This record gives sequence, structure tokens and C-alpha cells, in this order.
Amino acid sequence: MTSVFKLMTGLAVIMSLNSVAQAKDLVVGVSWSNFQEERWKTDEAAIKAALAKSGDKYISADAQSSPAKQLTDVESLISQGANALIVLAQDSDAIGPAIEKAAAEGIPVVGYDRLIENPAAFYITFDNKEVGRLQAQEVFKVKPEGNYVFIKGSSADPNADFLFSGQMEVVKAAIDAGKIKNVGEAYTDGWKPEIAQKNMEQFLTANDNKIDAVVASNDGTAGGAIAALDAQGLAGSVPVSGQDADKAALNRVALGTQTVSVWKDSRELGKRAAEIAVELAGGKTMDQISGVQTFNGGPKKAEMKSVFLKPQPITQANLGTVIDAGWITKAEACQGV
Ligand code: BGC
Repeated sequence: MTSVFKLMTGLAVIMSLNSVAQAKDLVVGVSWSNFQEERWKTDEAAIKAALAKSGDKYISADAQSSPAKQLTDVESLISQGANALIVLAQDSDAIGPAIEKAAAEGIPVVGYDRLIENPAAFYITFDNKEVGRLQAQEVFKVKPEGNYVFIKGSSADPNADFLFSGQMEVVKAAIDAGKIKNVGEAYTDGWKPEIAQKNMEQFLTANDNKIDAVVASNDGTAGGAIAALDAQGLAGSVPVSGQDADKAALNRVALGTQTVSVWKDSRELGKRAAEIAVELAGGKTMDQISGVQTFNGGPKKAEMKSVFLKPQPITQANLGTVIDAGWITKAEACQGV
């Protein structure tokens, strides 16, 4: 062995020891968009548990629905020493500079649940188009014809359009055949239930209450729509969809005022995202992540390394699934039934 070669081997050993040491005690910074919503607390608990298990540290910030605050949140997570970031983007475009900054500093980013269409970010989510299909399918089973309303998500969240395209796929043939009429569709700014309620009130007024079905994109907006239906004595007679398996929504499913909630086990999403963040920060490439696939279905058609999990519809018929999975207790789900 030449001495130069020995020196290089020695350096390689030191470097690999170093990366082993770095595999623990990493700091993972999570940037939440709208933490007040029920589902994110479940995601957070799963991320925290996975990081506790791998011996890494969790830090976080909540943008409180402000894209501007989210930019400074990410900067602050970086300056607090984050070795990897998990970002739930409030606004998929506005978050751009924060992702560029992290990439420039060699900090891996996991785009969490919502698409951040920059290949520098890994993308983990549930199949959102499939969520949309499941929502429309369950509503369609109850009302295969009549006046439909579509309560869409936030226009700044690409999931809103993925969901809507899945919903449309299901009802398109019936619309073309004149069986279903789309009598109203609206985005819901910030996914806020009160905005969904206002939109639903307007659709009811504009159609003399003649609305037969509501395809709402999540449980929060479903709650708003159902409040508007209830004020007209229509809750329970008009099918309504949702997603997230929020406790209040599962209770509405049991009571019969909501037809379906699509369950996305965010305990699994959070766990996988934390593991991926640690793996990327520990030196794995995106291609080495287990289950990785390429997704290019975003508006810019960027090639994104991604992992997709499978959603599941929950109706009265299979409410037991979420109870058996320990997601909700029977008492919570069936309160007032
Ligand atoms: C998520 C939904 C959530 C919504 C509002 C979407 O991007 O996929 O699960 O209900 O945001 O926070």
C-alpha cells in the first residue's frame, strides 16, 4: 500500500464513522401550514414517535395559514440546525424560495402530503386522485342523478385539483348523459369550513334548495356544507363526502348526515416521512428510499421522486374498520346514535 492510498483509506474510515454518528441526533424541522386542523395533530404524533425511536430530534413551526410566515418558519428551522425538513406547504408556489434555500444548503426536504413541485423535494402523500374518486363514488352510489355541487379545497393546494379530477372522472359519463348537472363548484380559501358553509349557502339559494348531492373535498368543508344543509332542514337527505376521518366526521357518518369520509392513516404517513427525512439526511439518495416511484402528474409535469399510500373510504357499512384500527373509539364514533 502506498502511503497516499493508506491515508485515503484512513480518511474513508473516519468519514464513514462520522456518517454513522450523524445517523442519530439529527434535527428534523417540520413546517406545518395550518396546524389548527384536527388531522395534522395525528401526523405530528407519528412523526415525533418515529424520530424518538431513531434517536433524532423534532422541531417545528406552524405557518397559521400564512404563506409568508411559512417562508420565515423554514428559515428559522434551518437556523435552528435542521438537518432535514418536512414541509406541509400552505401555498405550493409561494414556498419555492424556501425549498431553494434548503437545497442550496444541502438540506433534504420532504414535501409532506401536498405537492411541492421541485425535484429537490421528495414527495410523500396518499393517492389524492384516488381520494377524489372514492368521494364521488360513494356519493354517486346514493344519488346517481340530479343536481351536484362540488366544494373544492384551497386553490393554493395542488391536492384540490387532484381531488377534483378524480371526482370528475367518476361523474363525467353521467354529466355527459345529462343525468347529473354540475350546479355549482367553488374553491374553499384555506380549506376553511366557514367559507365552505358560505359557498354552500349560496349554492342552495341559487338553486332554490334543489341540490341532490354534495361532493365536498375534506371533512372540514363537509362540516361547513352540512351546517348549511341543516339550516334548510336538508341534512341527512343529501349525500355529502369528506376525507380525513376526523372524529366529528365519523360521528356524522354514524348519524347519517355525512355519507363517506376517506380515511388516510396519517399515522403511517407521518412515520414514513420521518424515516425518509432521516434516511436522506443520513446520506441515502432519493432512489434508495423503499417503495420510491416517479410522479409527474403535477401542473409543471416535473419528475418527482415519491411514495404514495393508499386511502380507504369509510361509510356506515365499514365504520368498524377505524374503530378496530384504534383510530377512534366506538363511543366517540357512535355518540348520539
Ligand atoms: C390534505 C387533506 C386536508 C386538507 C386541509 C389537504 O392537502 O390532503 O387531508 O384535509 O389539506 O388541511
